[in-house]
Amino acid sequence: MSKSIAFFDGNFIPTNEAQISIMTHALHYGTAVFEGIRGNWNNEKNALSIFRMKEHYQRLLDGCKLMMIDLPYSCEDLCEITIELIKRSGYKEDVYIRPLAYKSAEIVANLKLQELESNFCLIVIPFGKYLTTDHLRCCTSAWRRIDDTMIPPRFKISGIYVNSILAKTEATLAGFDEAILLNADGHVCEGTGENIFLAKDNALHTPSLSENVLPGITRNTIINLAQNELSIPVIERSIDRSEIYVADECFLTGTAAHVTAVTEIDRRQIGQNEAIGPITKLLQQHYFEIVKGNNNKYLEWCSLITA
Ligand code: PMP
Repeated sequence: MSKSIAFFDGNFIPTNEAQISIMTHALHYGTAVFEGIRGNWNNEKNALSIFRMKEHYQRLLDGCKLMMIDLPYSCEDLCEITIELIKRSGYKEDVYIRPLAYKSAEIVANLKLQELESNFCLIVIPFGKYLTTDHLRCCTSAWRRIDDTMIPPRFKISGIYVNSILAKTEATLAGFDEAILLNADGHVCEGTGENIFLAKDNALHTPSLSENVLPGITRNTIINLAQNELSIPVIERSIDRSEIYVADECFLTGTAAHVTAVTEIDRRQIGQNEAIGPITKLLQQHYFEIVKGNNNKYLEWCSLITA
């Protein structure tokens, strides 16, 4: 039987008992750092495969450094807490793991990070598909991606997600599935919760990390797989908006979104008659096998938790 349990204030407790005050700093200002980690259920192995957990926690701790959130946990401690929560929860299905490191001080009118205490909590929820289609129709957002000189988008800082949420809301209200944001320079940046790749003339292109993208763990996985499994070069560079329209293929990557084809952007079809392109398809096949823990070569990326 699965139970909704959270790790809160250093203890494993029922999720509905994990409560915070309305005075909490993070609630007012978005002064928190989070992660999104997937556990993929593997029926044959009767195990949950947590994908690249260490890298997620390293990124969380990097964000904590910026936000002056001092956690009493190392990366290894956070992995152990997660494994313990998964074991106690008993889910036998795909799950989403959400750690949150936040400014827990119950002080409202204070903008000095150095004076605010912090806390950490962790929840796990059953989670199937994030995107509702595997053929995304996207638009270029009127909202621009926030710049490193404003709030660094290389970390998953809670407050920054208002930028993604405005873009996603705008796109879906206009009938699209997802928005592609340009950065302040007008270059292609990323989706609201995904990195973007284009395939053109048998090479992959993706915005470089200095374009204000989140250094996605799925992005890194796909770069590895393209180079090592498909022998396709990956070029990290700045990309113009108009390049997407004439790409052979386009896809988005993210922990929640997996690897999902974009078949239309700004009402222009990408590639041939709405089909998922051959490179996207091959990468999807490798990726899904790996994240489930079914490819021995990449098993070190998976923490297999047996039920
Ligand atoms: N960009 C943004 C803005 C995101 O929120 C995410 C999801 N974490 C990604 C890219 C993809 O990152 P990852 O592959 O590490 O999940």
